[in-house]
Amino acid sequence: MIYADYNATAPLRPEARDAMIAALEVGANPSSVHGPGRKARKILETARRQVASAISAIPQDLIFTSGGTEAIALAINGVVRQLEGKCTLLVSAIEHEAAAKNAGYSGAAVQSVYVTRTGEADLEDLSSRLANWDTDRHGTPVLVLMLANNETGVIQPVAQAAALVREAGGLAICDGVQGLGKMPVNVSLLGVDYLALSAHKAGGPQGAGALWLRSGAPLKAGLYGGGQERSLRSGTENLAGIAGFGAAAEASVADISNFTKLAQHRDRMEARLKAEGGVTVFGEEAPRLPNTSNFAYGGFRAETQVMAMDLAGIAVSSGSACSSGKVKRSLVLAAMGADDALAESAIRTSFGWRSKPEDFDRTADVWLKALHQRKTKETA
Ligand code: PLP
Repeated sequence: MIYADYNATAPLRPEARDAMIAALEVGANPSSVHGPGRKARKILETARRQVASAISAIPQDLIFTSGGTEAIALAINGVVRQLEGKCTLLVSAIEHEAAAKNAGYSGAAVQSVYVTRTGEADLEDLSSRLANWDTDRHGTPVLVLMLANNETGVIQPVAQAAALVREAGGLAICDGVQGLGKMPVNVSLLGVDYLALSAHKAGGPQGAGALWLRSGAPLKAGLYGGGQERSLRSGTENLAGIAGFGAAAEASVADISNFTKLAQHRDRMEARLKAEGGVTVFGEEAPRLPNTSNFAYGGFRAETQVMAMDLAGIAVSSGSACSSGKVKRSLVLAAMGADDALAESAIRTSFGWRSKPEDFDRTADVWLKALHQRKTKETA
């Protein structure tokens, strides 16, 4: 089987599995003061150091959560709560639903920031919205921009966008879920105020994540209880999940040079697909994650392709898979100007730490065979 759906979830790294088993064996609460509790606390703080180090941050500024979605929700709602709604969320048109929907339900005003045809947030649009920003009317501008897009892999101009917002006296929230372990991430260089992370995209377990926040950045908790995580996220920490997160973050950053090399195989695969004619590769003109390729042949429906690939033992996803597994219209591709027929034909391949060069060749072989079969049927 070839697994080419790392942007959905990366297979668990062995380092993460080992750390999780060790943490499960401790079987104590990290808030307990006795010996086993202190052992659990040590595991928790080791993971905090590992994740913080992966983004060049200090451990004290990291809050563990149940995953990327909760980290994003905490950032967005926590800022809106602390600012008592006196803000406007500037949300890029290609955000993951975790950001787009939490922004929509936050109660604050929302403006959508356009993206260009290459799939990057449009800095001109952002800067024109921020020019002469009327704080009395719109409150603090709060940017919500992801680091790398889950569907296309396009890396966003986060540092430039965050600088624009900072100059306008605003704040920047970044969904870094697809960036961790796939590209270098340094919170100081990004210049954002909040960065959301998830373990399972970097080879850790599902159900663990973190929010990094700049020291002093405004944030009001949404979950009250035992006061864990600096009272910003109460609830006993998922120790095994977090231990796996720490180990995966460390291992994936140590392995980043191998991850970078995936681009050469991805590009070779894309060159073969494009040689067929009529194939669009979304986001190829922009900087992209090395592992991701989102492509379409107009009229060749994504479901058909995903099924044909699955039958041949290759796990890929449609350009935009939603949680129910159904294919729905991709807002990301629509925002990039793709028409419905093309967007409905898009599939996403995403490779990772266990992928081999031949996986890319086999993926191209199987996809081209499926396309040829479809073309033969059409002309029959
Ligand atoms: N943000 C992006 C860009 C994602 O790709 C995902 C997962 O699909 C999330 C957020 C949500 O993360 P989690 O699954 O950990 O809640």
